[in-house]
Amino acid sequence: MTGIDIIIKIVYLIAAILFILGLKKLSSPKTARQGNQLAMLGMFLAVVMTAFKIINPVWVLVGLVIGAAVGAISAKKVQMTAMPQMVAIFNGFGGGASTLVAFSEYTSITGEAKIDFYITVVLSILIGTVTFFGSLIAYLKLDGTMKGVPITYAGQQFINALLLILIGVLGTLFVLDTVGIVVIAGMPAWVYLIAIVVLSTVLGITSVIPIGGADMPVVVSLLNSYSGLAAAATGFVLSNYVLIISGALVGASGLILTNIMCVAMNRSLANVLFAAVGSEEGAVSGEKEQRTVVRYTADDAAFMLEKASSVIIIPGYGLAVAQAQHILQEMATILQNQGIKVRYAIHPVAGRMPGHMNVLLAEANVPYDYLLEMDEINDDFQNTDVAFIVGANDVVNPAARYKKDSPLYGMPILNADQARTIMIIKRSLGAGFAGEANELFFDEKTMMVFGDAKKMITDIVHVLKG
Ligand code: NDP
Repeated sequence: MTGIDIIIKIVYLIAAILFILGLKKLSSPKTARQGNQLAMLGMFLAVVMTAFKIINPVWVLVGLVIGAAVGAISAKKVQMTAMPQMVAIFNGFGGGASTLVAFSEYTSITGEAKIDFYITVVLSILIGTVTFFGSLIAYLKLDGTMKGVPITYAGQQFINALLLILIGVLGTLFVLDTVGIVVIAGMPAWVYLIAIVVLSTVLGITSVIPIGGADMPVVVSLLNSYSGLAAAATGFVLSNYVLIISGALVGASGLILTNIMCVAMNRSLANVLFAAVGSEEGAVSGEKEQRTVVRYTADDAAFMLEKASSVIIIPGYGLAVAQAQHILQEMATILQNQGIKVRYAIHPVAGRMPGHMNVLLAEANVPYDYLLEMDEINDDFQNTDVAFIVGANDVVNPAARYKKDSPLYGMPILNADQARTIMIIKRSLGAGFAGEANELFFDEKTMMVFGDAKKMITDIVHVLKG
């Protein structure tokens, strides 16, 4: 081993340690920013060191510049509400890259390779292709280009299982061929790989189309985990330790996040993947709502808030749409200055991506100590004067507790209905992401304040200031 090889290995180790520290810090909103920076530094070191090993760096540089430009411009331009689809498609690119790298390594290998090389080539191509096409479907569904409803057909799971078995058989034949045990005269081994790519493409598509509605984030998280596994497999193909470590970290943390989200929705992963639960965004289930509610004004809301001694704010997706986080923080500060206890209740699946509300409120500099997770705050609603629900719907929908045929059934919700007054800011009586009507709007303790969240909270702030 040359001196440069030793240096590369040591820097890879440092990069891996930075990834682990970064992940650890990502587990709390207080340290998440620092965690991201550490992981970025780790990735920078890993990329620079890898560049050292490349004989002709021109193409790598071209790729690096194009990739960095696309990444930076997309991240800069993306709307907060479009983050899930961006995460989905970027996961997909990771998977696609693994497929391409594995293919290229196989075609450019000179001389004999060990059997484990060929096995990891197959795994890289299988997982990478499934991830790429699965993520593409997730992107199209989240983006609204494809309908969000689950697409189901007879024998769906059987066909998926069959595809997986076929890929397994082809993968085995490929490995046996490359090591010279079973060789079909006149047929090059790469034909198997092409067949695996085709079948994995179909598998990626058919395993994501039956998933819809509120289950999409779980799938995106699972695909994220797959992209890590694909990268780890490619790490074995390339004998690149830092890729193996970082891929394994992404794979494991993606699985943990998937599990956390399943627990938050009180569903098993199998149920998410195979039950085809979910309906179109905004579609109200059941009969059209005939009941009416009293419309309250910003003045009424401000009056009620000023009288309260404790307020729990429940932010949801509509807060992100309205970009009302800054004015919400201003309102909370005014109330706190008047001696009112104000806290924020964060549901694990509020918004459209894990941690969506944390990110949004951090942007508005809401102190982390005021953000409480569902388990920490749910028992406090009964002693709270006002539950101030802004742009949230599914995460407070009591149908989750009792309505067995609801897509929300079983999902733990925030106990907003237990507060003395429930104040809801949204534009209509329309449903949330899961398409389920919300009884809370008709509760006698509820004040519906109709309007765009930013406009209504701005009006409330004016009254409070006046
Ligand atoms: P919901 O989607 O249930 O409800 C959001 C509400 O915001 C809508 O009912 C809408 O009502 C209102 N709204 C939209 N725009 C505005 C606006 N400009 N001003 C005021 N209100 C507005 O959101 P929740 O956060 O309660 O629940 C999240 C849902 O999304 C869950 O079902 C979850 O499973 C799912 N999901 C979660 C993901 C995650 O990882 N967090 C990812 C993908 C889905 P109106 O139109 O009447 O204004």
